Amino acid sequence: MKVASVLIPLPVPEAFDYEVPEALSLAHGDLARGDQVAVPLGPRLIRGVVSEVFETTGSNRRLKAIDSVLDDPPLPAGVMDFVEWAGRWTLSAPGEMAATALKGLRAPRPRPERRVRRLGERSPSRATPARTGVLETLGDRAMPPADLARAAGVSSGVVKGLIDEGVLEIIEIAAEAAFDRPDPDHAPAALNGDQAASATAMADGVAGGGFRPFLLDGVTGSGKTEAYLEAIARVLRADPAAQILILLPEIALTQALIERITARFGAAPAEWHSGVAPPRRRQVWEAVVAGRCNIVVGARSALFLPFVNLRLIVVDEEHDGSFKQEEGLVYHGRDLAVARARIEGAAVVLASATPSLETLWNAQSGRYDWLKLGARHGTAVLPDIALLDLRQNTPDPQTWLSQPLRLAIGETLLRGEQTLLFLNRRGYAPVVLCRACGHRLTAPDTDSWLVEHRYTGRLVCHLTGFSMARPKLCPSCGAEDSLVSVGPGVERVEEEVRQLFPEARTAVFSSDTAPDARSARALIQKMTDGEIDILVATQAAAKGHNFPRLTLVGVVDADLGLRGGDLRAAERTYQLLAQATGRAGRADRPGRALLQSWTPEHPVLMALAAGDRDAFVEAEMSEREVASLPPYGRLAAIILSSENAAAVEKTANDLAQAIPNAERLEVYGPADAPLALVRGRRRKRLLVRADRDVNLQAFLRAWLQRVKVPGSVRLTVDVDPYSF
Ligand code: ADP
Repeated sequence: MKVASVLIPLPVPEAFDYEVPEALSLAHGDLARGDQVAVPLGPRLIRGVVSEVFETTGSNRRLKAIDSVLDDPPLPAGVMDFVEWAGRWTLSAPGEMAATALKGLRAPRPRPERRVRRLGERSPSRATPARTGVLETLGDRAMPPADLARAAGVSSGVVKGLIDEGVLEIIEIAAEAAFDRPDPDHAPAALNGDQAASATAMADGVAGGGFRPFLLDGVTGSGKTEAYLEAIARVLRADPAAQILILLPEIALTQALIERITARFGAAPAEWHSGVAPPRRRQVWEAVVAGRCNIVVGARSALFLPFVNLRLIVVDEEHDGSFKQEEGLVYHGRDLAVARARIEGAAVVLASATPSLETLWNAQSGRYDWLKLGARHGTAVLPDIALLDLRQNTPDPQTWLSQPLRLAIGETLLRGEQTLLFLNRRGYAPVVLCRACGHRLTAPDTDSWLVEHRYTGRLVCHLTGFSMARPKLCPSCGAEDSLVSVGPGVERVEEEVRQLFPEARTAVFSSDTAPDARSARALIQKMTDGEIDILVATQAAAKGHNFPRLTLVGVVDADLGLRGGDLRAAERTYQLLAQATGRAGRADRPGRALLQSWTPEHPVLMALAAGDRDAFVEAEMSEREVASLPPYGRLAAIILSSENAAAVEKTANDLAQAIPNAERLEVYGPADAPLALVRGRRRKRLLVRADRDVNLQAFLRAWLQRVKVPGSVRLTVDVDPYSF
């Protein structure tokens, strides 16, 4: 009997076996890995993907039979290998990984377009001037009826009359997206020496075939994008059918890159992220699997697209924590990009001005080719960075900008240049507290403070989206007029700026004022056009954007990310502040950055001010090495959550009792997770640390098999957690 293992979208670690009926093979030819099939599951039919087909003899298993083979294109071998590998690596269900790869098919196709054309040589029974005009306008083309009526200057009734009479016929044209082939020679750039050498190395890496990882390392503005676009041009010249994927951490960054690629290659790339309408995503999916599309710019989920000739993956801003997906399937986009490239035998380029310690470690040890871009392109120089000691320059009560920073903003305004004030806090104030009883307002079912938003007049939980009007009385003690807003968010800093510089044009850039790609683009455009003098922004604007007239960056609270004991606190702060300060002075005007801090002697801030990345990396690496933490060791987290606190507690203790024996590996916890209560669910966490050469996944699998997790408890495994 022929049997197929089929991946179906269920949270189980294995594929399901089904019988392959003979009639099916007769009708469709032999079933193969990657084929999409409909299979029975309980009373329903669901979509699955064939993982494997094999013969069994004498089996007395009674298997259900595959219902039918679907018309949709099979998943290419590379995607199949990738989803199965990713399932094993992240300990998630391969069927759910495969379902991610099929997401593009979930939407309906865009509706076919209706057009009219001449039906043979038939003439109208009455040749009015209007009718003759229509036929002349149309000629032997096919046009949408409304366009035709407009072009001929007649009412739509005239066109309809001709259709009714059989002079014109309606045809439907399938809306298949056409992607113009990129032209590698459309608008080449003249590269400087470092850029050209890097582009050559990357393109040669692709030409050599096989897996080739690169770190493309250069300060903001050094031309990393320019260099990888040139590498892409060379790849396309050598193989016009080559496919290239560029991953970005934020949807807000895609538009600028798409415009740059379109200008460079004379053809727009495909776009893939959650902001793209589902019917369009379906078109992209179908074009990618048919090899009709060369360049895709996307978010991490684009890694699951069915490329058939993937030669190069670029992960831009590779250090960015947004590449980590923490809801649903838990994975790191950068790590999976490297895995996909390995599986496809392709090159992968990790680009950053502040690479992650993991990537630097791989480059230092020679696993990755390390391409360095020296200075900024042209005359642009890196900004001067100075620390403002708030102990000596304390702002007045209830204000957040110190005197030297205020002066610098004033000077910048006078020169007609722009200022970016960076504060990674949305809203008006991060905490609202009662002066009478000390109560801090939190969401009813979540352990996080409510953030005051003045523009919308509400208190918002940033974790769950819960919101309420600002109460008149303290919800805890009932005192009147006792609630105060503590600390600044971007809205509050903007309020201060407006009072100080009433004539300046100010704006706030955060995920509240720019919730989607379109509004982000509009704000970025205003900034680029010089219609904003002072932009107060969270990290949403700190990344990747080029503002030629921006010459001053003020970091309102440089200590912010350094508090809290997270593994990556120092690294993340360094990266974020380096990105933010790197925004200044990108064109021909020099820039400067001022960092307000209560602890300017902190090594991270000293390294930033000195522009000494190597010193920072060295210090941070040796701390990690001593503690055997990543990149010197590996981590995994197991998070348990449930509305039933006792069930979480019990499962956590069961897990703690069932830890398999293992060397060079420790388990910590169970303890309250960093967010111990979210939407009414209690959360507990166990952490595993292991030496690099320990098979962490095998340990986790063996461990989890020993414990029965009740249905009321959700268990999430996070391999290589980003925060810790
Ligand atoms: P990065 O990706 O490292 O931040 P970009 O590639 O965006 O750097 O380059 C920064 C700016 O300098 C861009 O406006 C880019 O067009 C310009 N630039 C970089 N290299 C060149 C070059 N060789 N010729 C012309 N302009 C360049």
